[in-house]
Amino acid sequence: MQSLKGKTALVTGSTSGIGLGIAKALAAQGAQIVLNGFGDVQAAQSEIAALGVTAAYHGADMRRPGEISDMMNFAADRFGRVDILVNNAGIQHVARIEAFATERWDDVLAVNLSSAFHTSRLALPGMYANNWGRIINIASTHGLVGSVEKSAYVASKHGIIGLTKVTALETATTGVTCNAICPGWVLTPLVQKQVDARALAMGLTNEEAKKSLVGEKSPSQQFTTPEQLGALAVFLCSDAAINVRGAAWNMDGGWVAQ
Ligand code: NAD
Repeated sequence: MQSLKGKTALVTGSTSGIGLGIAKALAAQGAQIVLNGFGDVQAAQSEIAALGVTAAYHGADMRRPGEISDMMNFAADRFGRVDILVNNAGIQHVARIEAFATERWDDVLAVNLSSAFHTSRLALPGMYANNWGRIINIASTHGLVGSVEKSAYVASKHGIIGLTKVTALETATTGVTCNAICPGWVLTPLVQKQVDARALAMGLTNEEAKKSLVGEKSPSQQFTTPEQLGALAVFLCSDAAINVRGAAWNMDGGWVAQ
């Protein structure tokens, strides 16, 4: 039985990686999907359509509040309302603070944090009207702990966990919930760039660099997969999760248990 039939899910940054994995998991449960992101749109749309649901797309740039507003209006016009909002779009920039380009700081904060404020404020009225909604913010282990050279990313991810808590408190007596998922390393295009940089800097093969990256932080020495994160998102959308509110749920091979 498909548990999300009749629901509409909007997943930001869902043309690749974790966002696409979560969109596919929600689609497999029958949810109609609104995709967003700058990757291969046609490929992502066909993967979702193959699961038997509609896959609409809006190309809003998550740095721009006006375009986010257009995307939310587009979703409401097309499907009536957004029932499940997954704030997933994210970017990374790696440099020490004194060398961190200020425009990169602004972009990381805008995409990773402010966009979730804008989508949430625009989705909540429809969710309240229907007394049902799920907001899932994709944070990171870097929302719970720091790492060198990732000031903007760590600040944005700590920030989105704060936003998650406030959203959860403001919705606490309703059928709307808000939670964060905190993945450890997931082998997506975002992380492959860091694997490539490590391979180059340390003279390693791609396989050696992957092992060295994941082993450094993750006691399990395993990458988390988009499919595993999709299954957690489906659980957070279930009736059984109605009292899970304001959680920052790590799926990280034990990274933050240390
Ligand atoms: P990814 O690079 O594969 O996907 C990022 C998505 O965001 C893509 O669809 C991209 O097109 C989109 N995007 C980027 N800038 C955008 C913008 N301005 N407007 C709209 N869309 C934009 O990366 P991923 O690893 O799948 O990351 C997804 C989320 O998971 C991010 O929030 C990231 O911080 C988080 N995360 C990733 C990992 C990991 O190890 N990969 C770990 C923890 C958290």
